[in-house]
Amino acid sequence: MNKPILVEDPEIDTPAHLLEINDLHVEADGVPILNGLSLSVEQGKVHVLMGPNGSGKSTLANTLLGNPAYQVTQGHILFKGEDITGLDTPARGARGLFLGFQHPEEIPGVSVLNFLRQSMAIRKGISDLSVLEVRMSLIEWTRRLGMDDRFTQRYLNEGFSGGEKKRNEILQMALMEPDLAVLDETDSGLDIDALRVVANGIHEVRNDRPQLGILLITHYQRILNHLSPDVVHILLDGRVVQTGGPDLAKQLEADGFDAFRAQVA
Ligand code: ADP
Ligand code: MG
Repeated sequence: MNKPILVEDPEIDTPAHLLEINDLHVEADGVPILNGLSLSVEQGKVHVLMGPNGSGKSTLANTLLGNPAYQVTQGHILFKGEDITGLDTPARGARGLFLGFQHPEEIPGVSVLNFLRQSMAIRKGISDLSVLEVRMSLIEWTRRLGMDDRFTQRYLNEGFSGGEKKRNEILQMALMEPDLAVLDETDSGLDIDALRVVANGIHEVRNDRPQLGILLITHYQRILNHLSPDVVHILLDGRVVQTGGPDLAKQLEADGFDAFRAQVA
C-alpha cells in the first residue's frame, strides 16, 4: 500500500507523491458519488483511471479541481504534500494542478488567446502577462502540436470540432506548465487520427516536462495503444477496486468491468 505523506514532517522537501487522495467521499446535491476513493500519483508517471459510465470519473476530476457543485464529506486531497481539500479552483491552478475537461465549455466572446493569457497569469502569479509573451509561447506550441495558430484568435471552443476541443485542452496543458494534469476522457469522441494527434500532444508535453504527473481518465483501452501507462486503477461505484500495471488494462479489455465487479462482490 502507499505510505501516507506526513505533511508536517520537515525532512520531506520533495514529496514522493505528487497527488495523494485518501478515503475521499464526495456527494453532489446530497447524493453520494465517491465512496472512499484512494489513489496516488508520482512525479513523471502516467496513471490511468478506468471505470464504466457513471462510476464517478468526472466527479473525481471536478472534485480535484475544486468545482463547488461537488462536496467533500470525508477524506483528503494532498497535492505536493499540501492539503488542498479546502482550496478554491484558482488556488489549485496556481499550485500547478490542471484539468482537461471531458466536455470543454464554449465561451463566446473570449478568444483562445485571451483565455490563455489570463490563465497563464494566474499560474505564474503575475497580474499582467504581455500579449507578446503569450503569442510567442502559442506560436511555439501550436507548431509542436501540429495546430494552425490562427485557431487562437477564435472564441474558446465556439464551433470547434470534437478533435479541436480536445487538442485545445492539450494546448492549455502545455502553456499552463502544470505539475499534475488530470485529463478527463480526452480520448472520447475522437476518431483514430484525432486520437493519435492528442496522444502525440501528450508525449510532446511530457518530453518538455519529464516531471509532469498525469492522471488520465478513460473508459476505453484504445488510447493506451498510443500511450503506455505506468499504473492502472479500476474505478467501480466511486471506489478504486484494483490497482496494477499495464496488464490490468489488457485484462480489463479481455474481461470487461463486470469481471471486476464480480470479484469485488
Ligand atoms: P463518469 O464520469 O464515470 O461517467 P460521473 O462522475 O459523471 O461519472 O457521474 C457519476 C454519478 O454521479 C452518475 O450517477 C451521475 O448522474 C451522478 N452525478 C454526477 N454529477 C452530478 C451532479 N452535479 N448532481 C447530481 N448527480 C451527479
Ligand atoms: Mg465522465
